[in-house]
Amino acid sequence: MASELEPEVQALDRSLLECSAEETAGKWLQATDLTREVYQHLAHYVPKIYCRGPNPFPQKEDMLAQQILLGPMEWYLCGEDPAFGFSKLEQANKPSHLCGRVFKVGEPTYSCRDCAVDPTCVLCMECFLGSVHRNHRYRMTTSGGGGFCDCGDTEAWKEGPYCQKHELNTSEIEEEEDPLVHLSEDMIARTYNIFAIMFRYAVEILTWEKENELPGDLEMAEKSDTYYCMLFNDEVHTYEQVIHTLQKAVNCTQKEAIGFATTVDRDGRRSVRYGDFQYCEQAKSIIVRNTSRQTKPLKVQVMHSSIVAHQNFGLKLLSWLGSIIGYSDGLRRILCQVGLQEGPDGENSSLVDRLMLSDSKLWKGARSVYHQLFMSSLLMDLKYKKLFAVRFANNYERLQNDYVTDDHDREFSIADLSVQIFTVPSLARMLITEENLMTIIIKTFMDHLRHRDAQGRFQFERYTALQAFKFRRVQSLILDLKYVLISKPTEWSDELRQKFLEGFDAFLELLKCMQGMDPITRQVGQHIEMEPEWEAAFTLQMKLTHVISMMQDWCALDEKVLIEAYKKCLAVLMQCHSGFTDGEQPITLSICGHSVETIRYCVSQEKVSIHLPVSRLLAGLHVLLSKSEVAYKFPELLPLSELSPPMLIEHPLRCLVLCAQVQAGMWRRNGFSLVNQIYYYHNVKCRREMFDKDIVMLQTGVSMMDPNHFLMIMLSRFELYQIFSTPDYGKRFSSEITHKDIVQQNNTLIEEMLYLIIMLVGERFSPGVGQVNATDEIKREIIHQLSIRPMAHSELVKSLPEDENKETGMESVIKAVASFKKPGLTGRGMYELKPECAKEFNLYFYHFSRAEQSKAEEAQRKLKKQNREDTALPPPVLPPFCPLFASLVNILQSDVMLCIMGTVLQWAVEHNGYAWSESMLQRVLHLIGMALQEEKQHLENVMEEHVVTFTFTQKISKPGEAPNNSPSILAMLETLQNAPYLEVHKDMIRWILKTFNIIKKIRQSSSTSPVAETEGTIMEESSRDKDKAERKRKAEIARLRREKIMAQMSEMQRHFIDENKELFQQTLELDTSTSAVLDNSPVVSDMTLTALGPAQTRVPEQRQFVTCILCQEEQEIKVENRAMVLAAFVQRSTVLSKNRSKFIQDPEKYDPLFMHPDLSCGTHTGSCGHVMHAHCWQRYFDSVQAKEQRRQHRLRLHTSYDVENGEFLCPLCECLSNTVIPLLLPPRNIFNSRLNFSDQPNLSLWIRTISQQIKALQVLRKEESTLNTASSKSSENMGELKLPEGFRPDFHPKNPYSESIKEMLTTFGTATYKVGLKVHPNEEDPRVPVMCWGSCAYTIQSIERILSDEDKPLFGPLPCRLDDCLRSLTRFAAAHWTVASLSVVQGHFCKLFTSLVPNENHGDLPCILDIDMFHLLVGLVLAFPALQCQDFSGISLGTGDLHIFHLVTVAHIVQILLTSYTEENGMDQENPIGEEELAILALHKTLRQYTGSTLKEIPSGWHLWRNVKAGIMPFLKCSALFFHYLNGVPSPSELEAIGTSHFEHLCNYLSLPNNLICLFQENSEIMNSLIESWCQNSEVKRYLEGERDAISYPRESNKLIELPEDYSSLINQASNFSCPKSGGDKSRTPTLCLVCGTLLCSQSYCCQTELEGEDVGACTAHTYSCGSGVSIFLRVRECQVLFLAGKTKGCFYAPPYLDDYGETDQGLRRGNPLHLCKERFKKIQKLWQQHSITEEIGHAQEANQALVGIDWQHL
Ligand SMILES: [Zn+2]
Ligand SMILES: [Zn+2]
Ligand SMILES: [Zn+2]
Ligand SMILES: [Zn+2]
Ligand SMILES: [Zn+2]
Ligand SMILES: [Zn+2]
Ligand SMILES: [Zn+2]
Repeated sequence: MASELEPEVQALDRSLLECSAEETAGKWLQATDLTREVYQHLAHYVPKIYCRGPNPFPQKEDMLAQQILLGPMEWYLCGEDPAFGFSKLEQANKPSHLCGRVFKVGEPTYSCRDCAVDPTCVLCMECFLGSVHRNHRYRMTTSGGGGFCDCGDTEAWKEGPYCQKHELNTSEIEEEEDPLVHLSEDMIARTYNIFAIMFRYAVEILTWEKENELPGDLEMAEKSDTYYCMLFNDEVHTYEQVIHTLQKAVNCTQKEAIGFATTVDRDGRRSVRYGDFQYCEQAKSIIVRNTSRQTKPLKVQVMHSSIVAHQNFGLKLLSWLGSIIGYSDGLRRILCQVGLQEGPDGENSSLVDRLMLSDSKLWKGARSVYHQLFMSSLLMDLKYKKLFAVRFANNYERLQNDYVTDDHDREFSIADLSVQIFTVPSLARMLITEENLMTIIIKTFMDHLRHRDAQGRFQFERYTALQAFKFRRVQSLILDLKYVLISKPTEWSDELRQKFLEGFDAFLELLKCMQGMDPITRQVGQHIEMEPEWEAAFTLQMKLTHVISMMQDWCALDEKVLIEAYKKCLAVLMQCHSGFTDGEQPITLSICGHSVETIRYCVSQEKVSIHLPVSRLLAGLHVLLSKSEVAYKFPELLPLSELSPPMLIEHPLRCLVLCAQVQAGMWRRNGFSLVNQIYYYHNVKCRREMFDKDIVMLQTGVSMMDPNHFLMIMLSRFELYQIFSTPDYGKRFSSEITHKDIVQQNNTLIEEMLYLIIMLVGERFSPGVGQVNATDEIKREIIHQLSIRPMAHSELVKSLPEDENKETGMESVIKAVASFKKPGLTGRGMYELKPECAKEFNLYFYHFSRAEQSKAEEAQRKLKKQNREDTALPPPVLPPFCPLFASLVNILQSDVMLCIMGTVLQWAVEHNGYAWSESMLQRVLHLIGMALQEEKQHLENVMEEHVVTFTFTQKISKPGEAPNNSPSILAMLETLQNAPYLEVHKDMIRWILKTFNIIKKIRQSSSTSPVAETEGTIMEESSRDKDKAERKRKAEIARLRREKIMAQMSEMQRHFIDENKELFQQTLELDTSTSAVLDNSPVVSDMTLTALGPAQTRVPEQRQFVTCILCQEEQEIKVENRAMVLAAFVQRSTVLSKNRSKFIQDPEKYDPLFMHPDLSCGTHTGSCGHVMHAHCWQRYFDSVQAKEQRRQHRLRLHTSYDVENGEFLCPLCECLSNTVIPLLLPPRNIFNSRLNFSDQPNLSLWIRTISQQIKALQVLRKEESTLNTASSKSSENMGELKLPEGFRPDFHPKNPYSESIKEMLTTFGTATYKVGLKVHPNEEDPRVPVMCWGSCAYTIQSIERILSDEDKPLFGPLPCRLDDCLRSLTRFAAAHWTVASLSVVQGHFCKLFTSLVPNENHGDLPCILDIDMFHLLVGLVLAFPALQCQDFSGISLGTGDLHIFHLVTVAHIVQILLTSYTEENGMDQENPIGEEELAILALHKTLRQYTGSTLKEIPSGWHLWRNVKAGIMPFLKCSALFFHYLNGVPSPSELEAIGTSHFEHLCNYLSLPNNLICLFQENSEIMNSLIESWCQNSEVKRYLEGERDAISYPRESNKLIELPEDYSSLINQASNFSCPKSGGDKSRTPTLCLVCGTLLCSQSYCCQTELEGEDVGACTAHTYSCGSGVSIFLRVRECQVLFLAGKTKGCFYAPPYLDDYGETDQGLRRGNPLHLCKERFKKIQKLWQQHSITEEIGHAQEANQALVGIDWQHL
């Protein structure tokens, strides 16, 4: 259908293009009815431009629209060519000093923690970099889209509101200047006209709801039958559902469906079918039918194409308006005027109102277009911003209601603009006073929570799904309230007071509905059947926490407001609890001659609620009265006389008793919901407006009543009254009915009650309660957190309450209390408590959880022991109370308190049975300590002539009265001091008695108040005690010394392990697992060691024993023994690749014989070094396989390894492995023994001999194949062939290895072949041996690179596992030919050899520029035995090795000379010309000769020699490693040390002349002919003529890409990155490949591709091309490193970016500035270079099974 339309469309285009913008504009200028003219124009052209087919053509549409539709408007507006008109406007315009840049999704934004008025004030990157905040404490986040840069907004910043760029514009600005003065009258009029028409048109068409009919003045004469089936976005259906449905409904491919779904998700709608009405209706009904089953169906409309066309143009028009007003502030103002002008229908009829009110009916794309227009117009104009704010506030209720019922996220709702308006302090204040905004918000919010119980309280129980959904959405209103309150007024007008208090009233109404909600009753007998709903209530509380605090902050600012608020709050509280005593008979309690009346109430039997926001708000206000001293200044204005302390304390006390009872296990049957509620009640997120305020309320109560009365009520609520009021307490133990559980329960309750009293007296660190300031409070919190253990910055932040600006205030005090310890390579930076702060430690700090308390106690006691102090943890000295709370301390010396203390001590003295507890005693001791501290303080600070009324010491010295006649508290303490069962508390008791004496002395010296004489001397230690103490001290010293030695030893051990695992992460089990034997020990002393050739150093045969990790049996490695194997992991690798765009196209046809010098795809073998019997491993692997099969049948669980692919975990270290390598003795020795070494041929002769042998073989092969094809004749022809002397091609050597070893040789060879080529295993394939040699060469090369990069010596101490791996791998590769077909290996040898020494039969072989010489060397050396074994002429294997090595070295030198650039860098030689330099100049000349002088002339032999030496080093090093492991010759000690290049030592070890050029000179004849053949290759010529590239030497090591120092520049880079597939869209998960630097659009449908028949995400796809299956990424927006291997393996890894506190920020949640940590990045690079990524993933997945379940392939 589309194709038929094409010619027609093109014809149409031509006619369209003739339409002239200038002429049209001219016509409009003449028009009498401009609106009609314009509408006619639009009616005619819009449908001709937009929506001409099933798919949009955005470029063409835009082009035509500009020409025909927008062009005329621009001409009209300017009155001349807009190209001139607009630039004139721009010049005349005084640019705004506001930045106003609207943020894209993912763009970095910056806020200043020092200067931003609230956290919503942000800067764009450009402004930030030019601002003063760069050097402040800034916070960095990525924008979710929407919102704009606040640069230039003086209300947003306390300091530095302008960046450098925007500051320039401020100088000449007079704030209230009318921007219209810069425009001519005419222009204003024209702009007004055209804006009014266009804006109205856009609003009309976008809000148009009919599907088949246009507004009258746009209707066309003839209407085609063309419709769109339009699919809309919703938040209910998933991507998969939509894609699936579309495939069915419109019969499209999956790819198209994904495209549709992506657009629908992004733009909010997309046509999925184009055609006649019927055709579209049909698709609609299928979609609706298919999606209506479980949920509400997808929204689909069949719309006439002309409507869609006009709507598309409407959107275009709005963006156009947005860009036009950018030219001039005057135009912007006119647009604002037009938008806000009231229409003919009065109220809410302006265009802006109309758009806002139909917001929820618009699709996503339309919404964001007009929201952006609002932001760039209304919010950028100071005058209209206010007017708009008023409109917004007026419509607030409707907008919010629309939002709550809509299902789109808030960022797509106009309601979200509240943050832009309400956070502007002046606007917020204006809206409060003029529009009563506070009240509106709160009332709107309450309207949505209609579900109430009989008392009018909120009820969340039995919420329907819809109600729950609404509840979630309506919470955003609380956020709005927060925005309004966030900046506090600096001055109050009467209106503001009045409206604020009105809002406060509404707020109290809200809190009243929460007071007492979700009441609970203790469950007895049965466990509750269903956990009651509790989360909703807590969510509400949590969301309101900041608002409640801010309300108090506001009240604190104005005395009048505070007084009024206090009264109102008290009134509401009284309403809530009016008649809380009703219907109950009061009861009378009495102890120690005091009595009080109270109600009968048991928490354990009646309803109780955790939610008491009204009480708590009152507590907060009460503290403010104290803090602001209003309580003393205007007592007459306060309703203090109305306060009834028992009423105030009642509910908070119940709540605290509830917590105690839960602790005592009395509420077990109420299930987890209660436990959770109690948890949150104390949690840092809630406690400030819950638990903390309950404590304050009790403190308020106690300070206003007789402490004896308070204590009795408290005893009664704790249900402990009986125990303490009954004089004969002994009874409670003797009673037989007393159950053990009950005793336990009561003990806990007593402990909890004592703890509560400690808190009431001790918690005076809120300003207003005690005489402290806010910093003291934070300091104290931090001290107590750090008393538990050293903590990282983020941990500390998490443990502190944040204010509405997300600040904890920690930075201002942390330095005073803690010292910072920097992080190492892992871990985080830590804060440690300063020792001098330890004295402020309070064991009963009220924010400790039980676990924290006991950890802190342990830590502090340990610390004291280390400092050799006694271990008592006495209460710290406290700041004094504020006067309003001052009388509170008397609770400590009240009679009832003394009675409670005495009782507990008495129990401890008698200690009969389990009816008391040590913690109970500990708390009493603490309380006594507190009282003593208090008294001491009072005495020390006493004013002259004042009498200290706090006489605790006096009271505890008095014995009890009759009838008890109990001893005094002091006496009991003395008794307890020697109680053997109280060893732990002795230090504390001693401290108490000491302090008591000090006080006594102070009293005596001042003698203001004589202390009663205490009996006996207390502190005089008897000599016996002294002895004991001395002995104890000595024992302690001895113990400490022992501990120190132990610590040193374990430190040394740790060091040892650390150092040895340097190169490889894995710990090495040295004793059990390695085969490391005496191999490296210098058996041969002092002489020069030679690794190969006839002169090879003979090493006495070493016997080697290893232990199997599976059966623990020891066995010797011998050719005839059973095979021992190492677990190994073979993987493809591109780590050394110099060409990442190259990969194996068709693995079945790929020939790996010659490795290209770009090393583009190698095969790496690694091993953990753990040894097993081959058969033990077989058995183990079979069992793994069987287990996996069973598991797969049961549940489809993934494992971290892929058994089907032969993967398993090493049974010892769980290292990922996929095959095993057999352990072998040096295989050369087996074949070498039969030969003597005299009379060996020289290189020329040897080459000639080998060439002859090869020729003979080639003839034989040819004959064989012809014989085979033709009917076979006898082999008599063979005899005719003249065989070289001693060459017996019919000889087949016997394989010396045992069956078991042979089997393992085949196993590992096949595995290497399978993995390396990614093909099905086939042990017969001729490429198997080639792959084995290749893996050996590649692995050696990669290790040589690592060693060189780290400046490590070649034969330095390698980790065992590496040493073992290289040895086994080399020896295996050398032995593999014995299990391969002899003729195949000979064939390989011939080809490899011919590549250097050509013969007439050679086929198409690569030129020497395209061969990696080390791979060639390894291949030749390892294939050679297959030829040599048939040679009986007396040439030894060693001779062959040496000549092969020399030949390849020579070729490599030529290769280097051909490819080396000799930069004339002015560096000149220092020494006179040496022998090497003359020689190399001569060689270079020869080369020039053979290349026909295309090779550049080099004047300096010095440069050449230097290049050759540098270029050949890696090759020589690799060769040294190779021959070392092959032949087992120990390494020369010089090469074991770090130092310079060791060129000479290497040459000696490798049997090379130090002057390498001698190799040419000694064999000049044959060399010249070889050089000639190499140089005359056509590829070499092409290279020299510059027609192709070649690798030059030395190859540089590959590194990961360079990362910027500042993380935000990465974020910025990523935010500019758009998805490469969906035209200009921002990618949601931009991900950076750290290997090649490509940015990818990860984890998204748009960029999925097919790989091996499966859909994979962009990262996985990239992994295959860039890293042959393994790669490292950085997820930029998450700040997280991602390791991927294959399709199923992956893990996240800590990023190399740290904040100033030495912590990473995965997920970018904290937003602290992040900087590159080079060491950590190096560590990641090392993992990559060592091929340990897959292993790392394996370990991560084993440690965290959740990682296994992630769909890595979709990333
Ligand atoms: Zn900006
Ligand atoms: Zn700026
Ligand atoms: Zn700042
Ligand atoms: Zn075994
Ligand atoms: Zn292992
Ligand atoms: Zn994409
Ligand atoms: Zn890459």
